[in-house]
Amino acid sequence: MARLQPVRGTHDILGDQARAFRYITDCFIKVAERYGHEEISTPIFEFTEVFKRTLGETSDVVSKEMYTFEDRGGESLTLRPEYTAGIARAFISGGLQQDLPLKFYGYGPMFRYERPQKGRMRQFHQIDVEILGVPEPQADIELLALAVDLLTELGLMEHITLEINSLGDVESRHAYRDALVAYFSDHKDRLSEDSLGRLEKNPLRILDSKDEGDRELVAGAPVLQDYFNDTSADFFRQVCDGLDVLGISYVVNPRLVRGLDYYSHTAFEFTTDQLGAQGTVLAGGRYDGLIEIMGGPPTAGIGWAAGIERLAEMVSGNHIPQVMRPVSIVPVGADAQSAALKLARDLRHDGYNVDMGYRGNVGKRMKRANKLDSAVAVLMGSDELARGKVTVKDLDEGSQAEIDLERVSDHLMQYR
Ligand code: ATP
Ligand code: MG
Repeated sequence: MARLQPVRGTHDILGDQARAFRYITDCFIKVAERYGHEEISTPIFEFTEVFKRTLGETSDVVSKEMYTFEDRGGESLTLRPEYTAGIARAFISGGLQQDLPLKFYGYGPMFRYERPQKGRMRQFHQIDVEILGVPEPQADIELLALAVDLLTELGLMEHITLEINSLGDVESRHAYRDALVAYFSDHKDRLSEDSLGRLEKNPLRILDSKDEGDRELVAGAPVLQDYFNDTSADFFRQVCDGLDVLGISYVVNPRLVRGLDYYSHTAFEFTTDQLGAQGTVLAGGRYDGLIEIMGGPPTAGIGWAAGIERLAEMVSGNHIPQVMRPVSIVPVGADAQSAALKLARDLRHDGYNVDMGYRGNVGKRMKRANKLDSAVAVLMGSDELARGKVTVKDLDEGSQAEIDLERVSDHLMQYR
Protein backbone atom coordinates (compact mmCIF):
# COMPACT_ATOMS: atom_id res chain seq x y z
CA MET A 1 0.00 0.00 0.00
CA ALA A 2 2.87 2.33 -0.81
CA ARG A 3 0.61 4.67 -2.77
CA LEU A 4 -2.21 5.04 -0.27
CA GLN A 5 -2.29 8.81 -0.55
CA PRO A 6 -4.06 11.33 -2.76
CA VAL A 7 -2.59 11.88 -6.22
CA ARG A 8 -0.44 15.02 -6.42
CA GLY A 9 -2.58 18.08 -7.02
CA THR A 10 -5.76 16.48 -5.69
CA HIS A 11 -7.38 17.05 -2.31
CA ASP A 12 -9.98 15.63 0.01
CA ILE A 13 -12.57 18.23 0.84
CA LEU A 14 -14.08 18.05 4.31
CA GLY A 15 -14.78 20.11 7.42
CA ASP A 16 -14.61 23.90 6.99
CA GLN A 17 -13.58 23.62 3.36
CA ALA A 18 -16.56 21.41 2.57
CA ARG A 19 -18.82 23.92 4.31
CA ALA A 20 -17.28 26.78 2.33
CA PHE A 21 -17.72 24.83 -0.92
CA ARG A 22 -21.35 24.17 -0.14
CA TYR A 23 -21.98 27.76 0.88
CA ILE A 24 -20.42 29.09 -2.34
CA THR A 25 -22.29 26.62 -4.52
CA ASP A 26 -25.61 27.31 -2.80
CA CYS A 27 -25.16 31.08 -3.17
CA PHE A 28 -24.15 30.59 -6.79
CA ILE A 29 -27.22 28.50 -7.65
CA LYS A 30 -29.51 31.01 -5.97
CA VAL A 31 -28.00 34.02 -7.77
CA ALA A 32 -27.76 32.22 -11.15
CA GLU A 33 -31.42 31.22 -10.94
CA ARG A 34 -32.36 34.81 -10.09
CA TYR A 35 -30.84 35.70 -13.46
CA GLY A 36 -32.93 33.03 -15.18
CA HIS A 37 -30.19 30.45 -15.70
CA GLU A 38 -30.99 26.76 -15.79
CA GLU A 39 -28.78 23.98 -14.54
CA ILE A 40 -26.81 21.83 -16.96
CA SER A 41 -24.53 19.00 -16.02
CA THR A 42 -22.30 17.65 -18.76
CA PRO A 43 -20.14 14.51 -18.53
CA ILE A 44 -16.81 14.65 -16.71
CA PHE A 45 -15.12 13.25 -19.82
CA GLU A 46 -15.65 13.91 -23.50
CA PHE A 47 -13.99 12.86 -26.74
CA THR A 48 -10.60 14.57 -26.80
CA GLU A 49 -11.60 16.35 -30.03
CA VAL A 50 -14.19 18.41 -28.14
CA PHE A 51 -11.50 20.21 -26.18
CA LYS A 52 -8.79 20.19 -28.82
CA ARG A 53 -11.00 21.97 -31.28
CA THR A 54 -12.55 24.45 -28.91
CA LEU A 55 -9.52 25.43 -26.87
CA GLY A 56 -7.10 25.30 -29.80
CA GLU A 57 -3.91 23.28 -30.16
CA THR A 58 -1.71 26.17 -29.04
CA SER A 59 -3.51 26.86 -25.76
CA ASP A 60 -1.72 25.96 -22.52
CA VAL A 61 -4.58 23.68 -21.62
CA VAL A 62 -4.46 21.62 -24.80
CA SER A 63 -0.71 21.65 -25.34
CA LYS A 64 0.31 20.61 -21.83
CA GLU A 65 -2.50 20.35 -19.29
CA MET A 66 -5.03 17.82 -20.54
CA TYR A 67 -5.75 14.52 -18.82
CA THR A 68 -6.12 12.42 -21.94
CA PHE A 69 -6.39 8.65 -21.98
CA GLU A 70 -7.51 5.86 -24.18
CA ASP A 71 -10.48 3.85 -22.94
CA ARG A 72 -10.83 0.11 -23.39
CA GLY A 73 -12.49 0.61 -26.74
CA GLY A 74 -9.52 2.60 -28.03
CA GLU A 75 -11.30 5.99 -27.95
CA SER A 76 -9.24 9.01 -26.94
CA LEU A 77 -11.06 10.67 -24.06
CA THR A 78 -10.17 13.68 -21.92
CA LEU A 79 -11.25 14.68 -18.43
CA ARG A 80 -12.88 18.08 -18.82
CA PRO A 81 -10.49 20.99 -18.15
CA GLU A 82 -13.35 23.52 -18.30
CA TYR A 83 -17.08 23.74 -18.84
CA THR A 84 -17.66 25.79 -21.97
CA ALA A 85 -16.60 23.17 -24.51
CA GLY A 86 -18.90 20.53 -23.01
CA ILE A 87 -21.83 22.92 -22.98
CA ALA A 88 -21.22 23.93 -26.60
CA ARG A 89 -21.02 20.24 -27.53
CA ALA A 90 -24.27 19.58 -25.64
CA PHE A 91 -25.92 22.44 -27.51
CA ILE A 92 -24.93 20.98 -30.87
CA SER A 93 -25.45 17.28 -30.20
CA GLY A 94 -28.71 17.94 -28.35
CA GLY A 95 -30.10 20.02 -31.22
CA LEU A 96 -31.01 22.91 -28.91
CA GLN A 97 -31.05 25.62 -31.61
CA GLN A 98 -34.82 25.99 -31.35
CA ASP A 99 -34.53 26.91 -27.70
CA LEU A 100 -32.28 29.96 -28.05
CA PRO A 101 -31.48 32.05 -26.19
CA LEU A 102 -30.25 29.60 -23.56
CA LYS A 103 -28.88 30.49 -20.15
CA PHE A 104 -27.04 27.76 -18.31
CA TYR A 105 -25.22 27.29 -15.05
CA GLY A 106 -23.11 24.38 -13.90
CA TYR A 107 -20.55 23.44 -11.27
CA GLY A 108 -18.21 20.60 -10.55
CA PRO A 109 -14.67 19.24 -10.83
CA MET A 110 -12.24 20.15 -13.62
CA PHE A 111 -8.89 18.53 -14.40
CA ARG A 112 -5.65 20.07 -15.61
CA TYR A 113 -2.16 18.68 -15.43
CA GLU A 114 -0.54 21.76 -13.88
CA ARG A 115 2.35 22.25 -11.49
CA PRO A 116 0.55 22.06 -8.13
CA GLN A 117 0.96 25.12 -5.92
CA LYS A 118 -1.21 27.33 -3.76
CA GLY A 119 -4.43 28.02 -5.68
CA ARG A 120 -3.46 25.67 -8.49
CA MET A 121 -4.54 22.04 -8.40
CA ARG A 122 -4.86 19.18 -10.84
CA GLN A 123 -8.40 18.48 -9.77
CA PHE A 124 -10.15 21.71 -8.93
CA HIS A 125 -13.73 22.91 -8.99
CA GLN A 126 -15.53 25.58 -10.93
CA ILE A 127 -18.85 27.32 -11.01
CA ASP A 128 -19.77 28.34 -14.52
CA VAL A 129 -22.43 30.32 -16.40
CA GLU A 130 -23.01 30.59 -20.12
CA ILE A 131 -25.47 32.44 -22.37
CA LEU A 132 -25.95 31.11 -25.89
CA GLY A 133 -27.64 32.90 -28.77
CA VAL A 134 -27.43 36.51 -27.60
CA PRO A 135 -25.13 38.68 -29.75
CA GLU A 136 -26.31 41.84 -27.94
CA PRO A 137 -24.13 43.47 -25.24
CA GLN A 138 -27.00 43.06 -22.75
CA ALA A 139 -25.82 39.48 -22.23
CA ASP A 140 -22.32 40.68 -21.34
CA ILE A 141 -23.70 43.24 -18.91
CA GLU A 142 -26.03 40.75 -17.22
CA LEU A 143 -23.36 38.06 -16.85
CA LEU A 144 -21.03 40.61 -15.26
CA ALA A 145 -23.83 41.77 -12.96
CA LEU A 146 -24.45 38.14 -11.99
CA ALA A 147 -20.78 37.76 -11.06
CA VAL A 148 -20.78 40.98 -9.04
CA ASP A 149 -23.99 39.98 -7.21
CA LEU A 150 -22.53 36.59 -6.33
CA LEU A 151 -19.21 37.99 -5.10
CA THR A 152 -21.08 40.66 -3.14
CA GLU A 153 -23.38 38.08 -1.56
CA LEU A 154 -20.30 36.08 -0.55
CA GLY A 155 -18.91 39.22 1.08
CA LEU A 156 -15.88 39.30 -1.21
CA MET A 157 -16.50 42.11 -3.67
CA GLU A 158 -14.74 44.74 -1.57
CA HIS A 159 -11.48 42.83 -2.08
CA ILE A 160 -12.01 42.19 -5.78
CA THR A 161 -11.51 44.30 -8.90
CA LEU A 162 -13.32 43.75 -12.18
CA GLU A 163 -10.92 44.19 -15.08
CA ILE A 164 -12.44 44.27 -18.53
CA ASN A 165 -11.26 44.60 -22.07
CA SER A 166 -12.56 44.10 -25.55
CA LEU A 167 -10.96 41.94 -28.21
CA GLY A 168 -13.10 43.55 -30.89
CA ASP A 169 -14.65 41.67 -33.80
CA VAL A 170 -12.85 39.46 -36.32
CA GLU A 171 -11.94 42.34 -38.64
CA SER A 172 -10.43 44.45 -35.86
CA ARG A 173 -8.57 41.51 -34.46
CA HIS A 174 -7.01 40.63 -37.80
CA ALA A 175 -5.74 44.17 -38.23
CA TYR A 176 -4.34 44.03 -34.71
CA ARG A 177 -2.83 40.62 -35.26
CA ASP A 178 -0.82 41.95 -38.22
CA ALA A 179 0.46 44.80 -36.10
CA LEU A 180 1.43 42.39 -33.32
CA VAL A 181 3.27 40.06 -35.69
CA ALA A 182 5.21 43.03 -37.08
CA TYR A 183 6.12 44.22 -33.58
CA PHE A 184 7.19 40.87 -32.15
CA SER A 185 9.02 39.90 -35.36
CA ASP A 186 11.26 42.92 -34.76
CA HIS A 187 12.10 41.53 -31.29
CA LYS A 188 12.33 37.82 -32.09
CA ASP A 189 15.66 37.45 -30.28
CA ARG A 190 14.02 38.45 -26.98
CA LEU A 191 10.96 36.20 -27.23
CA SER A 192 10.71 32.97 -25.22
CA GLU A 193 10.67 29.72 -27.16
CA ASP A 194 6.98 29.19 -26.42
CA SER A 195 6.18 32.63 -27.73
CA LEU A 196 8.20 32.10 -30.90
CA GLY A 197 5.82 29.24 -31.61
CA ARG A 198 2.85 31.45 -30.75
CA LEU A 199 4.10 34.10 -33.16
CA GLU A 200 3.47 31.63 -35.98
CA LYS A 201 0.24 30.13 -34.77
CA ASN A 202 -1.52 32.60 -32.51
CA PRO A 203 0.34 35.83 -31.74
CA LEU A 204 -2.42 37.19 -29.46
CA ARG A 205 -1.53 34.51 -27.00
CA ILE A 206 1.89 36.07 -26.46
CA LEU A 207 0.07 38.82 -24.57
CA ASP A 208 -1.00 36.17 -22.08
CA SER A 209 2.52 34.78 -21.60
CA LYS A 210 3.79 34.29 -18.07
CA ASP A 211 7.47 34.50 -19.12
CA GLU A 212 9.24 37.53 -17.60
CA GLY A 213 11.08 38.50 -20.79
CA ASP A 214 7.91 38.20 -22.84
CA ARG A 215 6.07 40.38 -20.39
CA GLU A 216 8.60 43.17 -20.75
CA LEU A 217 8.16 43.04 -24.51
CA VAL A 218 4.38 42.91 -24.19
CA ALA A 219 4.43 46.15 -22.19
CA GLY A 220 5.57 47.99 -25.32
CA ALA A 221 3.36 46.15 -27.81
CA PRO A 222 0.60 47.85 -29.82
CA VAL A 223 -2.76 48.15 -28.08
CA LEU A 224 -5.82 46.45 -29.51
CA GLN A 225 -8.22 49.37 -29.03
CA ASP A 226 -6.20 51.41 -31.51
CA TYR A 227 -7.23 48.92 -34.22
CA PHE A 228 -10.97 48.87 -33.48
CA ASN A 229 -13.49 49.45 -36.24
CA ASP A 230 -16.78 51.23 -35.40
CA THR A 231 -18.67 48.03 -34.59
CA SER A 232 -16.05 46.95 -32.06
CA ALA A 233 -15.74 50.35 -30.44
CA ASP A 234 -19.50 50.71 -30.22
CA PHE A 235 -20.01 47.27 -28.69
CA PHE A 236 -17.44 47.93 -26.00
CA ARG A 237 -18.94 51.34 -25.25
CA GLN A 238 -22.37 49.75 -24.77
CA VAL A 239 -21.00 47.20 -22.33
CA CYS A 240 -19.24 49.92 -20.32
CA ASP A 241 -22.35 52.13 -20.38
CA GLY A 242 -24.45 49.24 -19.12
CA LEU A 243 -22.07 48.64 -16.22
CA ASP A 244 -22.24 52.36 -15.41
CA VAL A 245 -26.05 52.25 -15.41
CA LEU A 246 -25.93 49.37 -12.91
CA GLY A 247 -23.35 51.12 -10.76
CA ILE A 248 -20.76 48.39 -11.30
CA SER A 249 -17.20 49.65 -11.10
CA TYR A 250 -14.49 48.27 -13.34
CA VAL A 251 -11.02 48.96 -14.64
CA VAL A 252 -10.31 48.76 -18.36
CA ASN A 253 -7.17 46.66 -18.81
CA PRO A 254 -6.09 46.87 -22.45
CA ARG A 255 -3.59 43.98 -21.91
CA LEU A 256 -6.22 41.51 -20.84
CA VAL A 257 -6.71 38.88 -23.54
CA ARG A 258 -8.13 35.49 -24.03
CA GLY A 259 -6.03 34.43 -26.94
CA LEU A 260 -8.35 32.18 -28.88
CA ASP A 261 -9.46 32.98 -32.39
CA TYR A 262 -13.13 32.60 -31.75
CA TYR A 263 -13.13 34.93 -28.75
CA SER A 264 -14.52 38.34 -29.57
CA HIS A 265 -15.52 41.56 -27.88
CA THR A 266 -15.76 41.35 -24.11
CA ALA A 267 -13.06 39.66 -22.00
CA PHE A 268 -12.86 40.07 -18.23
CA GLU A 269 -11.26 38.88 -15.03
CA PHE A 270 -12.12 39.43 -11.39
CA THR A 271 -8.85 39.71 -9.49
CA THR A 272 -7.78 40.09 -5.88
CA ASP A 273 -4.53 40.79 -4.08
CA GLN A 274 -5.55 38.48 -1.23
CA LEU A 275 -4.52 35.18 -2.76
CA GLY A 276 -0.89 35.73 -3.65
CA ALA A 277 0.24 34.76 -7.15
CA GLN A 278 -3.01 33.05 -8.14
CA GLY A 279 -5.12 36.20 -7.90
CA THR A 280 -7.75 35.60 -10.59
CA VAL A 281 -10.90 34.23 -9.03
CA LEU A 282 -13.28 34.50 -11.96
CA ALA A 283 -12.68 34.89 -15.68
CA GLY A 284 -14.64 34.81 -18.89
CA GLY A 285 -15.58 36.38 -22.16
CA ARG A 286 -17.54 36.31 -25.35
CA TYR A 287 -16.95 33.49 -27.81
CA ASP A 288 -19.21 34.21 -30.78
CA GLY A 289 -17.20 32.00 -33.16
CA LEU A 290 -16.90 28.89 -31.00
CA ILE A 291 -20.00 26.90 -31.83
CA GLU A 292 -19.49 27.37 -35.55
CA ILE A 293 -15.88 26.19 -35.26
CA MET A 294 -17.17 23.06 -33.52
CA GLY A 295 -19.45 22.35 -36.47
CA GLY A 296 -22.69 23.85 -35.17
CA PRO A 297 -24.80 26.71 -36.52
CA PRO A 298 -23.28 30.18 -36.02
CA THR A 299 -24.36 31.02 -32.48
CA ALA A 300 -23.20 33.79 -30.17
CA GLY A 301 -21.94 32.80 -26.75
CA ILE A 302 -20.57 34.33 -23.60
CA GLY A 303 -19.66 32.83 -20.25
CA TRP A 304 -17.45 32.83 -17.20
CA ALA A 305 -16.04 30.39 -14.69
CA ALA A 306 -14.74 30.86 -11.17
CA GLY A 307 -12.49 28.58 -9.16
CA ILE A 308 -14.32 27.37 -6.05
CA GLU A 309 -11.04 26.65 -4.19
CA ARG A 310 -9.91 30.26 -4.63
CA LEU A 311 -13.29 31.61 -3.55
CA ALA A 312 -13.33 29.23 -0.58
CA GLU A 313 -9.91 30.44 0.50
CA MET A 314 -11.28 34.00 0.57
CA VAL A 315 -14.58 33.08 2.15
CA SER A 316 -12.96 31.10 4.95
CA GLY A 317 -11.79 34.37 6.52
CA ASN A 318 -15.42 35.54 6.65
CA HIS A 319 -18.31 34.24 8.64
CA ILE A 320 -19.90 31.30 6.84
CA PRO A 321 -23.57 31.20 7.77
CA GLN A 322 -24.26 28.01 9.71
CA VAL A 323 -26.46 25.29 8.42
CA MET A 324 -29.02 24.51 11.13
CA ARG A 325 -27.14 23.76 14.33
CA PRO A 326 -27.72 20.24 15.57
CA VAL A 327 -29.66 19.05 18.57
CA SER A 328 -27.69 16.53 20.66
CA ILE A 329 -29.55 13.70 22.30
CA VAL A 330 -27.84 12.49 25.47
CA PRO A 331 -29.24 9.33 27.04
CA VAL A 332 -28.18 9.02 30.66
CA GLY A 333 -27.62 5.31 31.27
CA ALA A 334 -28.45 2.24 29.26
CA ASP A 335 -32.17 2.33 30.17
CA ALA A 336 -32.66 5.51 28.17
CA GLN A 337 -31.20 4.19 24.90
CA SER A 338 -34.43 3.13 23.23
CA ALA A 339 -36.26 6.31 24.19
CA ALA A 340 -33.29 8.31 22.86
CA LEU A 341 -33.31 6.48 19.52
CA LYS A 342 -37.01 7.13 19.20
CA LEU A 343 -36.85 10.82 20.14
CA ALA A 344 -33.93 11.39 17.74
CA ARG A 345 -35.90 9.95 14.86
CA ASP A 346 -39.09 11.84 15.75
CA LEU A 347 -37.16 15.11 15.84
CA ARG A 348 -35.56 14.33 12.49
CA HIS A 349 -39.01 13.72 11.05
CA ASP A 350 -39.91 17.19 12.34
CA GLY A 351 -36.97 18.60 10.40
CA TYR A 352 -34.25 18.96 13.05
CA ASN A 353 -30.63 17.99 12.57
CA VAL A 354 -30.04 15.54 15.36
CA ASP A 355 -26.84 13.94 16.60
CA MET A 356 -26.51 11.16 19.11
CA GLY A 357 -23.01 10.14 20.15
CA TYR A 358 -23.31 6.39 20.13
CA ARG A 359 -21.28 5.72 23.21
CA GLY A 360 -19.69 7.11 26.34
CA ASN A 361 -20.89 8.69 29.59
CA VAL A 362 -22.74 11.97 29.87
CA GLY A 363 -19.52 13.99 30.11
CA LYS A 364 -18.14 12.53 26.93
CA ARG A 365 -21.38 13.03 25.07
CA MET A 366 -21.67 16.66 26.21
CA LYS A 367 -18.15 17.25 24.98
CA ARG A 368 -19.17 15.94 21.59
CA ALA A 369 -22.27 18.18 21.63
CA ASN A 370 -20.04 21.22 22.18
CA LYS A 371 -17.61 20.14 19.52
CA LEU A 372 -20.44 19.85 17.01
CA ASP A 373 -21.61 23.33 18.05
CA SER A 374 -25.03 21.96 18.99
CA ALA A 375 -27.50 24.60 20.11
CA VAL A 376 -29.11 22.34 22.68
CA ALA A 377 -28.69 18.99 24.35
CA VAL A 378 -31.64 16.86 25.38
CA LEU A 379 -30.66 14.88 28.47
CA MET A 380 -32.70 11.74 28.99
CA GLY A 381 -32.45 10.14 32.45
CA SER A 382 -34.52 7.09 33.28
CA ASP A 383 -36.18 8.62 36.39
CA GLU A 384 -37.33 11.63 34.42
CA LEU A 385 -38.41 9.47 31.51
CA ALA A 386 -40.57 7.46 33.87
CA ARG A 387 -42.44 10.75 34.54
CA GLY A 388 -42.58 11.50 30.78
CA LYS A 389 -40.00 14.31 31.05
CA VAL A 390 -36.56 15.19 29.68
CA THR A 391 -34.08 18.00 30.41
CA VAL A 392 -33.36 20.43 27.60
CA LYS A 393 -30.11 22.30 28.07
CA ASP A 394 -29.33 25.50 26.13
CA LEU A 395 -25.64 25.15 25.38
CA ASP A 396 -25.05 28.86 24.72
CA GLU A 397 -26.83 30.10 27.84
CA GLY A 398 -26.03 27.12 30.03
CA SER A 399 -29.64 27.24 31.28
CA GLN A 400 -31.83 24.15 31.43
CA ALA A 401 -35.48 23.26 31.76
CA GLU A 402 -37.55 20.14 32.32
CA ILE A 403 -39.90 19.58 29.38
CA ASP A 404 -42.63 17.03 28.63
CA LEU A 405 -41.28 14.43 26.23
CA GLU A 406 -44.21 15.13 23.87
CA ARG A 407 -43.47 18.83 23.88
CA VAL A 408 -39.74 18.65 23.05
CA SER A 409 -40.22 19.26 19.34
CA ASP A 410 -42.35 22.38 19.96
CA HIS A 411 -39.92 23.63 22.58
CA LEU A 412 -36.99 23.31 20.15
CA MET A 413 -38.71 25.52 17.53
CA GLN A 414 -36.82 28.51 18.93
CA TYR A 415 -33.49 26.93 17.88
CA ARG A 416 -34.31 26.43 14.22
P1 ATP B 1 -4.46 30.94 -15.03
O1 ATP B 1 -4.02 32.06 -15.89
O2 ATP B 1 -4.42 31.23 -13.54
O3 ATP B 1 -3.87 29.62 -15.40
P2 ATP B 1 -6.73 30.24 -16.60
O4 ATP B 1 -6.84 31.28 -17.65
O5 ATP B 1 -6.14 28.92 -16.93
O6 ATP B 1 -6.03 30.83 -15.30
P3 ATP B 1 -9.54 29.80 -16.66
O7 ATP B 1 -9.42 28.68 -17.60
O8 ATP B 1 -10.06 31.11 -17.10
O9 ATP B 1 -8.15 30.04 -15.93
O10 ATP B 1 -10.36 29.31 -15.39
C1 ATP B 1 -11.23 30.15 -14.64
C2 ATP B 1 -10.91 30.10 -13.16
O11 ATP B 1 -10.75 28.77 -12.72
C3 ATP B 1 -9.62 30.76 -12.78
O12 ATP B 1 -9.79 32.15 -12.65
C4 ATP B 1 -9.33 30.12 -11.43
O13 ATP B 1 -10.11 30.71 -10.40
C5 ATP B 1 -9.80 28.72 -11.65
N1 ATP B 1 -8.69 27.82 -12.00
C6 ATP B 1 -8.13 27.62 -13.22
N2 ATP B 1 -7.16 26.69 -13.17
C7 ATP B 1 -7.11 26.28 -11.87
C8 ATP B 1 -6.31 25.31 -11.15
N3 ATP B 1 -5.41 24.56 -11.77
N4 ATP B 1 -6.52 25.17 -9.83
C9 ATP B 1 -7.45 25.90 -9.19
N5 ATP B 1 -8.24 26.82 -9.80
C10 ATP B 1 -8.08 27.01 -11.12
MG1 MG C 1 -4.27 28.04 -16.61
